[in-house]
Amino acid sequence: MSVFIGGAWPYANGSLHLGHIAALLPGDILARYYRLKGEKVLYASGSDCNGTPISIRANAEGVSVKEIADRYHTEFIVCFSRLGFSYDIYTRTDGRFHHQVVRNVFLTLLDRGFIFKKEVEQTYCEFDERFLPDRFVEGVCPYCGSRARGDQCDNCGSILDPLDLTERTCKLCGNEPTVRKTEHFYFKLSAFQDELDKYVASASAEGRWRDNAIHQSERYLREGLRDRAASRDLANGVGIPVRGYEDKKVYVWIEAVTGYYSASQEWAALNRVDFEEFWNEETVSYYVHGKD
Ligand SMILES: [Zn+2]
Ligand SMILES: [Zn+2]
Repeated sequence: MSVFIGGAWPYANGSLHLGHIAALLPGDILARYYRLKGEKVLYASGSDCNGTPISIRANAEGVSVKEIADRYHTEFIVCFSRLGFSYDIYTRTDGRFHHQVVRNVFLTLLDRGFIFKKEVEQTYCEFDERFLPDRFVEGVCPYCGSRARGDQCDNCGSILDPLDLTERTCKLCGNEPTVRKTEHFYFKLSAFQDELDKYVASASAEGRWRDNAIHQSERYLREGLRDRAASRDLANGVGIPVRGYEDKKVYVWIEAVTGYYSASQEWAALNRVDFEEFWNEETVSYYVHGKD
């Protein structure tokens, strides 16, 4: 049997603390358990080197994004090796290999109609002269009334769009952003409503998932799955592989998750393993994130 174990990807914008290690340890234990049983194991993870928080840190220190990513990626590797972690591959999301795999996945989804282009309204800061990433917009959550970021409300757990917020401010300068039209790519999540209804119902019936995972998933399904943005205006990340849109980046929720797949392929290439033989319909895969 092949067993794939994906550990959480630490974000390369700061040092790890004990809480991170506690969250990463269960994956390592699982990997050792299956190796002892004689199974073929691939335990994979890497540093998340894309996205907004790294840009913020790089700006604050006046250095490049790559310098920040290099610094913490190296520190993580030293840390893991001194603690005896047993990753089969520990890679990073700013590598050429990962970028290529993400672009291929994006183009396949586009080709099959699961990603489509749409004109949308987006928050723009006239003062900073830029479209604002979701996390750079703050305001009042329409569901619970507390102060929230443009991507989600930490108080009530709602997934938000910056335009859902009232009393919006730009996190960079504190001014109120305006709204401008722009084009973005969207993932047709709504097309998977029936399939995911059945999938979550069977996971629930078989008791394979934790209660909180079931409840959260059921809530999203009950509210009706909404198509989600697949591109973002960001400084660093995987560029959209469509002519005229190269400046936009693949949204991290698709890009980082694809890391499990790209890391597996990278591992296969580095170790001359037949990828299809390792990862097929019988492969069992675990995604270990924190205590859940
Ligand atoms: Zn809220
Ligand atoms: Zn601003």
